[in-house]
Amino acid sequence: MKISKVVVIGSGTMGSGIAAQVANAGLQVHLLDLTIEIATNACERIKKSRPPLLMEEDNFNHIIPGSIENDMETLKDADWVVEAVVERIDIKKTLYSQIDSLRKPGALVSSNTSSIPLKVLTEGMSKEMKEVFCITHFFNPVRYMRLLELVIGPQNNKEKINNLVTFGDKILGKTVVVCNDSPGFLGNRVGVYAMQVAMTEAFNLGLSVEEADAVFGRPLGIPKTGIFGLYDLIGIDLMADVLKSFIKELPSNDPFHKVGKELPIIKQLIADGYTGRKGKGGFFRMNKSSDKKVLESLNYNSNTYHESKKVDLQLPDVMDVMQVLNRKDVYGQYAWSIMKKTILYASSLIPDVTENFNDIDDAMKCGFNWSKGPFEILNEIGIGNFISMLNQDEAIPSFIKKIQDQENSLFRTSHDSLEYFHPKHSYVPMQRPDGVISLSDIKKSSKPIYTNLSASIWEVSGKSRFLCVEFHTKANVLDGFTNDCLIKAHDLCSDRYDGIVIANDAMQFSAGVNLNFFYEKAVNKQFKDIDLFLNNFQQSLYQLQHAKFPVVSCPSGLAIGGGYEVISQTSFIAAHSNSVLGLVESLVGLIPAGGGCKEMLRRWSNHHEIKKDPKLLSLKVFNLIGYATTADSPIKAKAQQFLGEQDIMVMSRDRLIEEADNLIFSKRENYQILESASFSLPGSTIMSEMMDILDELKDKKVIGEHGIEVGKKLGYMLSGGNTMPSTILTEQNLYDLERETFIDLIKQKPTQERIRHTLDTGKPLFN
Ligand code: NAD
Repeated sequence: MKISKVVVIGSGTMGSGIAAQVANAGLQVHLLDLTIEIATNACERIKKSRPPLLMEEDNFNHIIPGSIENDMETLKDADWVVEAVVERIDIKKTLYSQIDSLRKPGALVSSNTSSIPLKVLTEGMSKEMKEVFCITHFFNPVRYMRLLELVIGPQNNKEKINNLVTFGDKILGKTVVVCNDSPGFLGNRVGVYAMQVAMTEAFNLGLSVEEADAVFGRPLGIPKTGIFGLYDLIGIDLMADVLKSFIKELPSNDPFHKVGKELPIIKQLIADGYTGRKGKGGFFRMNKSSDKKVLESLNYNSNTYHESKKVDLQLPDVMDVMQVLNRKDVYGQYAWSIMKKTILYASSLIPDVTENFNDIDDAMKCGFNWSKGPFEILNEIGIGNFISMLNQDEAIPSFIKKIQDQENSLFRTSHDSLEYFHPKHSYVPMQRPDGVISLSDIKKSSKPIYTNLSASIWEVSGKSRFLCVEFHTKANVLDGFTNDCLIKAHDLCSDRYDGIVIANDAMQFSAGVNLNFFYEKAVNKQFKDIDLFLNNFQQSLYQLQHAKFPVVSCPSGLAIGGGYEVISQTSFIAAHSNSVLGLVESLVGLIPAGGGCKEMLRRWSNHHEIKKDPKLLSLKVFNLIGYATTADSPIKAKAQQFLGEQDIMVMSRDRLIEEADNLIFSKRENYQILESASFSLPGSTIMSEMMDILDELKDKKVIGEHGIEVGKKLGYMLSGGNTMPSTILTEQNLYDLERETFIDLIKQKPTQERIRHTLDTGKPLFN
């Protein structure tokens, strides 16, 4: 059955998020609530949401608000009805009988409940509706969180429910984890447990909130909000409700009870209105001191706030679990305690809650944004090592014992394919949804054919045989090593493979070139080194753009600055629907010099507006790069020419490499090498118009003195330098001009100050 029409009932946080994602998929969706006013307000919130729930404004037209009283008839031809009303069983059940009386035969129905068991929801439901009723548990914000837990029971018609699995995966772009009907399903069961352990252990060890978040954060592959920041983000009151529901639902011998009790400090914070970011603050708060905003953190012993200080615990920049666990200090002890307990708890859920430990890993990666799941971390620690690190009196879960008795490893490779340990059938082949090519599976079953500090190359066989270049630095910033890897991939690919894919599993495809490198070189006046780096960067990307085989890049998350320059110089871009693309160099007082200026000029020169009036070309790109424009979806990126006709948008993060493979497969034969571009640019004749724009911005205080300087240099570059419209410029001429301008700017103190400020605060400096 094809799902074409959807009705969402309940237009709160989750209902509006689900409706927006259905609209993003291009389908019509009715959003109903108690009154049409509530539903209409929800639509307005969707429109204004930040980060945006909609991938483009026009998607808004797919959402039709309505009321339960007047518009339930719309249900009659719906293929899927999803209930997302308040967490009250009586309200939900009343709705289900209304739905059952109206829905067409076979229409799927689901609830977004996070805590009411499926068996309770389906009590008294007709047999026909029970067959097609399940829980679809989305995470907030729906557009951005990858996980969709689909909770099923024995009464379900598997074939019909499978339609929803496929729809969630391919149309809504979610990682669908099918779960049994057990409290908290998989994500929250393990995720909330890990959060509670992280909080109680921090209290036990007397760590400050900053120290705890520094450890239970990036070094362990966990988002930088850590534990206390995450509590504030979710809402301290909401977390208290979640805990209450776990305490009620879980058997009394579940280890959750040891960490799930409400703590006096939490009670106090809620009573005082400190419910997190949506309230007056929580473990952190923003305070105003002489008109300046100051971030403060809570001393939970004295219940007082003080200015929050960045703590430097000499922890690794990128995920390095073993380095943290091996520390002999209180921070190592903290990390081990959380990881150990989480792994033991997750293992205790196998096989009763799930037989497939990978589902727990996926739930933690896609529902809590962990870089690795608890079992992948266990695999990294090593089963034997993990057991030897436990205390004598600690019980080893039977699942871990079983693995130890077999091959002592959670994964093994057999006939070049990945197998994982199944508690009932020993090792079984890893199964991913049809067509999905998982880089994390490839990494478990093979070794890279080339690797250095910052990037690796993997050999992949899909429909075609290709090389996959993976960056693996902090935020995937680019450096000399990532460059070397791109050159190496080009050299290795030439005759032996069908093409190259540039992709990675991280949150950000690449946040640009490593600014620390530029800063260090600039303050030490080593400008030749900067020029050499840029030249290598340009040449490696030129080689890829004009290779004799297709190169496909797969951005997801940020692909900005140098990150965008990489993807823009590949043959095709398969962009995840949530990727953010753009050239933001002007914010740090620089211009793109890895081919970004050249590439935007090339892309816009083919645009029909510019074909009509070529002298607009430099101005158009000047505005785009000068304002550090970014596009937060591929649809918006197409409008800005960040993506071209040949590039595609992919809804599912899991399917990026599969789509890249499809592109290589369909294009590899008769692949046309991209010819070098040539440019005719206006030279100084356009500078006065650019200066007018800059002066106006200066008058409006949008830019400062240095903003004028950066704008002038950018204008000089984009108008072709000292050229004339009759002169034909090559790509190399533009590369040279980019580098010359870049070096001019980075020599200047105010640019160096901008870079330093951004490195220290993550924010741009106005100067
Ligand atoms: P919410 O409070 O933001 O929204 C609930 C909506 O239900 C409101 O718009 C309200 O007007 C409406 N409503 C109340 N009674 C109704 C009725 N009789 N008929 C129709 N609509 C009615 O709640 P939410 O956070 O969106 O949660 C909705 C569901 O999703 C709950 O079951 C919750 O457990 C679950 N959930 C929430 C989250 C989350 O992070 N908020 C995550 C996963 C699941």
